[in-house]
Amino acid sequence: MSILATLADALSRGAVEVVDLTAPLSAETPVIQLPPQFAQTGTFRLEELSRYDDRGPAWYWNDFRTGEHTGTHFDAPNHWVTGRDGEDVASVPAARLVAPAVVLDFSAQAAADPDFLLEVEHVREWESAHGPLPAGGWLLYRTGWDARADSQERFLNADDTGPHTPGISPSCARWLAEEAPVTGLGVETVGTDAGAAHSFDPPFPCHAALMGSGKYGLTQLQNLAQLPPTGALLVAGPLPIVGGSGSPSRVLALVERG
Ligand code: MN
Repeated sequence: MSILATLADALSRGAVEVVDLTAPLSAETPVIQLPPQFAQTGTFRLEELSRYDDRGPAWYWNDFRTGEHTGTHFDAPNHWVTGRDGEDVASVPAARLVAPAVVLDFSAQAAADPDFLLEVEHVREWESAHGPLPAGGWLLYRTGWDARADSQERFLNADDTGPHTPGISPSCARWLAEEAPVTGLGVETVGTDAGAAHSFDPPFPCHAALMGSGKYGLTQLQNLAQLPPTGALLVAGPLPIVGGSGSPSRVLALVERG
C-alpha cells in the first residue's frame, strides 16, 4: 500500500486518531487585552444575513467579524516589527503547515506559579528524556491553561499589575528562535508570550525573536493533554489572508494509538 493509503486505513481503523487542538470560535472566545493606550482587537462576531426567511428563504448564512489574532490562531512573521519584511500569513508555504510536533508538559509548574517561565535548561532536560526537538516542527508548550478558556477573566488572569499567565523566558525565546530547529511555538495561552512579558527585556521576547527569525506562533491550543510527548503530526490551517499578520486557524494533530 502507498503511504497515504496506509494512513487512510489507519485513520478508518482508529489506529491513527485526529485530535482537535482548536478552541470553539464564538463571541465568548477570550481575546487579548492590551493596555488602554493601544488599539484593541475585536471578539469574534456572527452577523446573520438570512435564516430561511424573506432575506433568503431557503438558506442560512452569516458574515463574521474577527480579529486575525482571535481564538486559536496563527502568528505570521510580519506580525511583529522584527519580522516586518517577512512572510504575511498568505505567504507561509503550505508545506510548513503540516509538520511534526512535540509536547512539553509544564502544567504542574504553571499550576503552582501562573508566571512560570520556560527556560533553555527545561527544554534541554526534556530533550535528554525524549530526544531532540523536531527539525521543521513545532514545540507545543502545555501549561494546563486550556482549562480556563471558557472564561475571559480566568484565561487572562489579570490583577492591578497586569496579566499573569505562563510563558517563555527572554533567553529561551532567543534560543528557540535562533538555535532550536523548530519552525514554531504553540501555546495554550492568549499569546505566545507570558502575561507579564510587557515588562520583560525585550518586551514580548517570543514575538520579537520568533517573528524576527521567520518562525511562527500558534496560540490558544486545546487538548494538548491528549498528545504524546513525541510523534504527533500537526496540521495548522490559517486562512490565506493576503497581507495578513495571522489568522484564526483550525489546528489538528494526528496521533498513533497503539
Ligand atoms: Mn497572535
